[in-house]
Amino acid sequence: MSVAGSIANAALDAGEHGYGDFQMFTSNPRSWNSKPLDIDKVGLFKEYCNKYDTIPFSHLPYLFNLASPSEEQRMKSLNLLNDNLKRCDLMGIKYIVVHIGSHLGTGVDKGITRITDAINDNIIDHKVMILFENGAGYNNSVGSNMNEINEIFDKLNSDNIGLCLDTCHAFAAGYDLRDPKKLDFLVDDIKDLGKDKLKLVHLNDAKYELGSGMDRHEHLGKGKIGEEGFINFFSNPFFQKGCFVMETPVDKLGNDYDYNEVSKIISKVNKQLNLDINFR
Ligand SMILES: [Zn+2]
Repeated sequence: MSVAGSIANAALDAGEHGYGDFQMFTSNPRSWNSKPLDIDKVGLFKEYCNKYDTIPFSHLPYLFNLASPSEEQRMKSLNLLNDNLKRCDLMGIKYIVVHIGSHLGTGVDKGITRITDAINDNIIDHKVMILFENGAGYNNSVGSNMNEINEIFDKLNSDNIGLCLDTCHAFAAGYDLRDPKKLDFLVDDIKDLGKDKLKLVHLNDAKYELGSGMDRHEHLGKGKIGEEGFINFFSNPFFQKGCFVMETPVDKLGNDYDYNEVSKIISKVNKQLNLDINFR
């Protein structure tokens, strides 16, 4: 949801659409620094979240990279995370999604160690849960498979961590969500992270083929995962409840602010499996 005009607008807009949850930025998505929050707008934001009973998720700016070999970049990333954790806390947001980052050619193991050392040494007693998002598997990325995320979870001292599963990224990284058996393997891998670690799904189709490594989202049902792929996805009981957000722009191909695509898919699942999955 857009924060144009005021951060409170994200909650108002989500509420008026009837969404049970939504995602937003709590600082400028393309900058290391942002203006302090306006207390009146924070108050209004909380009021709307309550009134409409909708759960806010924050997304950390894209510059963040704790896996980087550059100390300067890691320091800036830590400041960014700290600042965003404070903003979320003030706004009553319980979860923040972070991209795991890139080791920039120095190797996955070193990347993981840098991330976990930085967080263990500097981010202590955070009230806001940090949700690590699986990556698309582009060159040098860390955390595009569940084994790497599992290793990160193992090495972190904090328990206040969780997973944000992006379906486009998973598909791009080689997880074939269209195949029931392979989807079961992914679910097993997610369960191995610990109890109830999955807190949010980024429900995106993929522009490119399975295993492409490309982080390019497509409107639901209109990409390479496709409608059949998402019917398979929602046929798995593990994905039949929880929080979901779509990360696609309004363009010629679609508008995910309405429920058209997802409701079409859910009603087919309900019909095929004689279920009554509900969403709002
Ligand atoms: Zn995502």
